[in-house]
Order: sequence, then C-alpha cells, then structure tokens
Amino acid sequence: MSKIVIIGAGIGGLIAAAELGKAGYEVSLYEKEKEDLLSYDWHDDVAPQIFKDLDLPLPDKEHYHPKSDWSFVIPKAKNILFVPIKGERDLSIHRRALSKYLVDKAKQYCSMFFDVKVDSLLIKDDKVQGVKVKGKNIKADLVIDSSGALSAFRASLPESSNIQQKPYPGDIFYAFRGFYERKDAKIEHKCKAYLKHLGEQGLSWSRHEIEGEVDILVGRIDKLDKKTLDNALNELKKDNPSMGDKLLHGGQICTIPVRYPLTKMVTDGYAAIGDAAFMTIPMLGSGIASSMFAGRLIAETIIKGGVEKQNLWNYQVRFMYKAGSRHMGVDALKRWLLRTPSEDLAFLFDKGIISQKEMEVSSSGGAVKLSFIDIFKKLVAGFPRIGLLLNLKKAVDRMQKAIVLGNDIPVEYDDKKIAVWQQKLWEFFHNQH
Ligand SMILES: Cc1cc2nc3c(=O)[nH]c(=O)nc-3n(C[C@H](O)[C@H](O)[C@H](O)COP(=O)(O)OP(=O)(O)OC[C@H]3O[C@@H](n4cnc5c(N)ncnc54)[C@H](O)[C@@H]3O)c2cc1C
Repeated sequence: MSKIVIIGAGIGGLIAAAELGKAGYEVSLYEKEKEDLLSYDWHDDVAPQIFKDLDLPLPDKEHYHPKSDWSFVIPKAKNILFVPIKGERDLSIHRRALSKYLVDKAKQYCSMFFDVKVDSLLIKDDKVQGVKVKGKNIKADLVIDSSGALSAFRASLPESSNIQQKPYPGDIFYAFRGFYERKDAKIEHKCKAYLKHLGEQGLSWSRHEIEGEVDILVGRIDKLDKKTLDNALNELKKDNPSMGDKLLHGGQICTIPVRYPLTKMVTDGYAAIGDAAFMTIPMLGSGIASSMFAGRLIAETIIKGGVEKQNLWNYQVRFMYKAGSRHMGVDALKRWLLRTPSEDLAFLFDKGIISQKEMEVSSSGGAVKLSFIDIFKKLVAGFPRIGLLLNLKKAVDRMQKAIVLGNDIPVEYDDKKIAVWQQKLWEFFHNQH
C-alpha cells in the first residue's frame, strides 16, 4: 500500500487521513500546532447536509447551535436587506470541537504528530517525493497539502507542475475576528454583514448569537492594517451599541481565500486540499463543507485508482462538478460587486433589484439567475437607470459563463488540454471588462 504524508490538520486533510488510514494506507499527518490549540476558539457556520453526505454523525450537541438569519448592509443604501433562511438552517459549530472530533476519528487509523512543523517538500526530477521534518527526510508516494491558504509547499512546487504557486492580488482576505463583551442594548439585527464596509474592499460583520458576546469580524482584501481595523471597529461600535470594549477571546488576524479554486490541484506526488486549493465560497469565505467533501473525494479517488497524477485528476474533476465551478460563478459576481461603486449598489439594493433571493443564493455558493424576462419586467416598471441594469445583467451572465467554463474541465489528465482550460479561466478572471 502507498505511503501518504498529510501536511497540516486542516479539515480536508483530517477526513482524508481517516478514510485512507482505514483503507490500509500508511498515513502520517504532521501538524505544527499543539493538539489542544488546534483550529479556532470560536463557532463557524456549516451546512449540516455535509455530515449526511459523508455519513458522519454530528459532533455533540453542546458544540453547535442553529445559525441566525443574515441582514445585509451596503454603504449609502437606505435599506437593510434581511435574508430569512429557507430550507435547512446552517449550524454554527465550535471549530476546536469540530477539529477534535475529526482528529479523534483520524487517530484510530493513522499516525499523527502534533507540535511538529513540516519544513519543506522533498522534490527530485520535478516530482514530490516526500517531506523534510526537523531536518529528516520522510519519503512518501503522495503528499497531501492541507496547510492552508498561504501554503509554503504549494509555493515551492516546480514551474512544470503548472500549479499556481502564490495567490494573486485580490485572492486573500485578511480577517480580524474578536469576541467582545456584550452590553445591555437593543439588538435589531442578530447577524449583520456589512458588504464593502465603509466603502472598502471587503466586509465586516457583527453577530449576537452567543449569550454575553458580540462576534466581530473585519475582513479586507490583500491587507488589513491597524488604522483600517481600528477605524472599522469604531464604526461597528457606533452601529452596535451592544458591543463592549473588552475583548473576551479571539483577536487574531487570519487568512481566508476569496477566489475561485486552483485550476490545477494535483501533480506528481502532490495534491492540495481545502484552503491550500482555494476551496472556499468566494463571497463569505466558507470552506468547511467543501474541504470535508474534498477529503472524501480524494480518499475515494486514491482507493479506487492509486496516487498517480493521472488518477488524482479525477479528484479535481469531481470537485469542480460538485462545487468548484459554482464557486467560479460566485467569484465572477464578487468581482463585479467589488468593482461597482457603492452608490450603484445602494441603488440596486434600495430598488429591490438585488433582493433576498440573490443574496441568499450567492452567499451560499449558488448561481444567481436574472433572465431577460426579469430585466423586461424591471424596465416596464419604469426602472430609471437602464445602463446600470444592463451592467448587472452582464455580471449575472458572466456568473453563468464562469460556471460553464468551470464545468468544461478536461475529464482525462492531459497536460496540453489542462493548460488550455487554465488559460481560458485565467483570461476570464483576469482580463476584466
Ligand atoms: C475568521 C474566519 C472565519 C471563517 N468562517 C467560516 C465559516 O463560517 N464557515 C466555513 O465553512 N468556513 C469558514 N472559514 C473558512 C474555514 O476556516 C476554512 O475554509 C476551512 O477550515 C478549510 O481550511 P483548511 O483546514 O484547509 O486550512 P487551515 O484551517 O488553515 O488549516 C491548516 C492547518 O495546517 C497547519 N500547518 C500549516 N503549515 C504547517 C506546517 N509547515 N507544518 C505542519 N502543519 C502546518 C496549520 O497549523 C493548520 O492547522 C473561516 C475562516 C476564518 C479565518
């Protein structure tokens, strides 16, 4: 059986470790953090369907609660858009508890080393052959990179792999997350997401879901300096009289990918998963469910056909069909939102053109549809800014086109065909119109 090394106890890596270990592979997972400090000391949202899809029982009830509805705020808009959740509600799950739950499952079937940092990849003749840990070479038939958005390992891959080494500008969100003591004050919106908060590139949120705490996030694309953060915190305090001064926990700045998935995730001896493969939904940065799903996919793919890149490619193809191409669509829409002046967005919000339906669908990774009939109805209703409406229509069409392009992934591993597909996507996302 092949020997597999997993770098980082990321969510997808943990699922893959358990399933591959159970199937008899020799799996070793290295995590730089101490076991009791793994992951985050806060709750994040996950669609419960993923547990059903993976046939995993939910973690203990004490570790999660149902997610509240979002209210969306746009700078300069008069209205706040309340988006009641239809269908099954997401769960807010304690991250450290979720990681512990997955660690305990994986531990039964693989060797896990905490507080051990992987130094680098072993690369020979353009093929990844293992990892270097504490100066020692550890050989492996496959290295699964589950080390997060800024993976140093992906960045060290040979050019010939055609895997994007470093994120492009605009790809990474720097997010401060802090939990402040809650003061006694009226709360009108339990969960408020401030899109393009203060007209800046990014978003913030205030959430009142846990007794005694106000959950604050300030995220900005590419960098979050102290001045921007302090200013955003002040403004959030003004808008949320419930937010006290005392930071109870959290308080660090983390990274989240807010872009379409890597267009090549596998090469000889290497596969990326989770944030290392940019598997988050580009709008709000949710990546837990897709990482869990990818963990299942990579394990199934390996068990069925081995660790050669030609077979591993099936993992990427299946990920694209299931989630990746929709994420490409959301990315196209996100780029339009960021480019569009706040006044125009406010206008579209206030006129109800961007409505509950569009926000619900796009923030959860779905595809927004705006047909010619919708457009016609708005025109007949005397919509005064036809140019803006057509611009929005173009954005929605681009979203659909991104999904089609994503699904056009070559089904078989073929370097030339993959390079052509990658180039088409690169042009689509980076030659802006
Ligand atoms: C503030 C914030 C809020 C979020 N909210 C949500 C949400 O509500 N819903 C949702 O679905 N997603 C959310 N996400 C995103 C989610 O956390 C990730 O998409 C998901 O966990 C997948 O990331 P990952 O496990 O691949 O990587 P990571 O979580 O980054 O894990 C990587 C692991 O690799 C380890 N590592 C790194 N380098 C090395 C090395 N050299 N050697 C050994 N180990 C190494 C790290 O210590 C870490 O444990 C949020 C993220 C943040 C930061």
